Amino acid sequence: MKKTIFIFIFLLMFITTFASCKKKNQDNENNKEPEHVHEYKLVNEVAATCTENGVKAHYICEGCDKIFDENKNETTLAALNISALNHSRDEPTYEWNADNSACTATRVCKNDASHVETETVNAEETHVDSGCVVDGKNTYTATFTNKAFEKQEREYIIDHYGHSWGYATYTWSADYSKCTATRVCNNDANHVETETVDSKSRVMSEATEEHEGAILYEATFTNEAFIEQSEVVMTPQLPTLSKISFTLVEDSSGAYYSVKAASSSISGSLVIPETYNDKPVTKIDAAGFEGTAITEVVIPASVTCVETYAFHNCTKLVEVKFIDGAKSCEIGMGAFKDCSKLERFTLPSSLTEIESYLFNGCTSLSYIDLKYLGKLEEIGNSAFDDCSNISFLYLPGSIKTISDHALGDSKKLSGFYYNGTQEDWSKVVVRPHGLPDTATIIVCTDGQIVDYMVPEE
Ligand SMILES: [Zn+2]
Ligand SMILES: [Zn+2]
Ligand SMILES: [Zn+2]
Repeated sequence: MKKTIFIFIFLLMFITTFASCKKKNQDNENNKEPEHVHEYKLVNEVAATCTENGVKAHYICEGCDKIFDENKNETTLAALNISALNHSRDEPTYEWNADNSACTATRVCKNDASHVETETVNAEETHVDSGCVVDGKNTYTATFTNKAFEKQEREYIIDHYGHSWGYATYTWSADYSKCTATRVCNNDANHVETETVDSKSRVMSEATEEHEGAILYEATFTNEAFIEQSEVVMTPQLPTLSKISFTLVEDSSGAYYSVKAASSSISGSLVIPETYNDKPVTKIDAAGFEGTAITEVVIPASVTCVETYAFHNCTKLVEVKFIDGAKSCEIGMGAFKDCSKLERFTLPSSLTEIESYLFNGCTSLSYIDLKYLGKLEEIGNSAFDDCSNISFLYLPGSIKTISDHALGDSKKLSGFYYNGTQEDWSKVVVRPHGLPDTATIIVCTDGQIVDYMVPEE
């Protein structure tokens, strides 16, 4: 049964094929192919984008797949191509972040705002400190890898802060003819402002034989930072030549003058000159001014020898002033003994010994500072004996011997100062009554000695 059906189908197919061939043969016989009429189908333009080509509007015939332009002339796809536009970039914009540590460059395509090109880079920072007069600078530089973006720079000026001047200092030349003002910047010691001006001088009082003179020097600066300076300079009293008798001495040491009172009635200030008739005044005679009514004496540095009792018993003498500078000076025994009004004296710093009885009986002396006598080694016998008002004493560190009764009567001293160590003091020879037994405290440079006992006879 199955076999029968199969054969039937086969037969059917055979018959159908035969019939078709028959028809084709009829067509060929007619030899007239039917005319093809294009069926134009419009294909809309595909616009080009920045990156993709587009295609112009055209027609296509679905029947023959041919392509035609807008005028229905046959064409090719290549001819219809619209080239890609490429991006049309705006000028880049640059934006710094708040602390200038980074900068972002951006540019947008005019064709399509979604075409954005952007790059963010860290900025390089350079810093120049500002100074007193020079501005400082912070510079931030952003350099992009994309060549389309230009290097960006931001600059911030840091104002200079100005000098911070210290206080002005002023120095006068030795002769006061000029004054120099200087101030230095606290920020930088190389910043120095200085001005030197000539001073104006005015004699306020002339020096006389009785008193010093005074000259006022004034210096005015053009720099307003500097304050006008003034200085009163004393000029030495004129030598009281009329009160002095000069004796020319010529010996192995050469020619010099020795002096004494012109008369026993001289009074007031006594100023001994350094020179007389171009020869130095080097000596004051023994008892030369003894018992006179002089009130003060100025002894020049030329004097190297004050003989014994030179000013003994000058009961009006208040002040003795040695002009310092003598290389050596000897002041003889009792030279100022019994000068009961004497309050102040300065001795030459080269002095090595305070001779016996030098200030004996000078009852007005209360303040004795010998610290500046750096070469003084000995205070002689009774040098300050019967000086009952001495209440302050400063001994130099150079002292080696304090002789008998040197200061034994200075009962107002409960102690004194010594410019040396306690160990140094232990080597000082103190003779009996060399110091008052009331002086039990010695203030040394490294501490105090208490309960000091003056040696007994
Ligand atoms: Zn066609
Ligand atoms: Zn674009
Ligand atoms: Zn400065």
